[in-house]
Amino acid sequence: MNRVKDKVAIVTGGSLGIGRSASILLAKEGAKVAVTDILDTEGNALAEEIKAMGFVAEFWHLDTSNEANVREVLFNIGEKFGGIDILVNNAGISGINKPTDEITYEEWNAVLKINVNGVFLCTKYVIPFMKAAGGGSIINMSSVYGLVGAADIPPYHASKGAVRLMSKTDAMFYAKDRIRVNSVHPGFINTPMVQNFLKPMTDPKEGLKLLESLHPVGHLGEPDDIGYGILYLASDEAKFITGSELVIDGGYTAR
Ligand code: NAP
Repeated sequence: MNRVKDKVAIVTGGSLGIGRSASILLAKEGAKVAVTDILDTEGNALAEEIKAMGFVAEFWHLDTSNEANVREVLFNIGEKFGGIDILVNNAGISGINKPTDEITYEEWNAVLKINVNGVFLCTKYVIPFMKAAGGGSIINMSSVYGLVGAADIPPYHASKGAVRLMSKTDAMFYAKDRIRVNSVHPGFINTPMVQNFLKPMTDPKEGLKLLESLHPVGHLGEPDDIGYGILYLASDEAKFITGSELVIDGGYTAR
């Protein structure tokens, strides 16, 4: 019940999928959770759901790619909850799925703007709060696509590779401030992102089978499979872990 008791946690992209799972698990383990997202209806509903369970959560509209919005919302969360100890940089999009030579510069930048710049902005503005608190934990959502290649979604691969190394660099910068920074690398997880990835395929059922076959365990992961990893890295149980890569992928990268 108390793995992150009284800590203040921000989850970006917290309304759906992995962020939703992380928000619920962190709240159940005692954190005050700021659920943030661009999806207001789902985010508000989740905060109410968490409160109805007897835990602490509030929703804030936050577009991680908008610097003014990030600065203002992090300030408001810090004021409301009395500091910030945990940041889950989870918001991300899969973006356009075309070969590199067919992608426009705008399509490329649209992915990097959220998946890379969003992580940068939230990290930049949370650091002063964590320094003031005497430490903290930043968890950055990368992917197996940040570790190995595949012949699809090139800007997504670039973005998740960047997030992996941003995590290590920040781990080095802020170790002296007792701020830990780690990346999480999920395989394919059954979330709206993956459902939307399959939907436009001519045969989504076959597409799902193909995705499942990429994982030696034979199936996709569930959001809680990642949520529990995030919870662990957020907690003091992981106090000696920084700059590391937590791979949770059903064996996808084991080959
Ligand atoms: P999801 O189901 O699409 O949920 C992500 C949430 O983030 C959505 O509510 C989304 O809103 C929101 N969002 C998008 N852009 C945002 C922005 N600029 N600011 C704030 N929120 C924003 O995604 P997920 O599958 O849970 O993935 C979460 C993270 O894990 C992502 O970083 C993803 O790349 C990573 N990941 C996922 C998988 C997987 O298989 N699912 C695997 C590896 C890594 P919209 O729906 O309006 O976009």
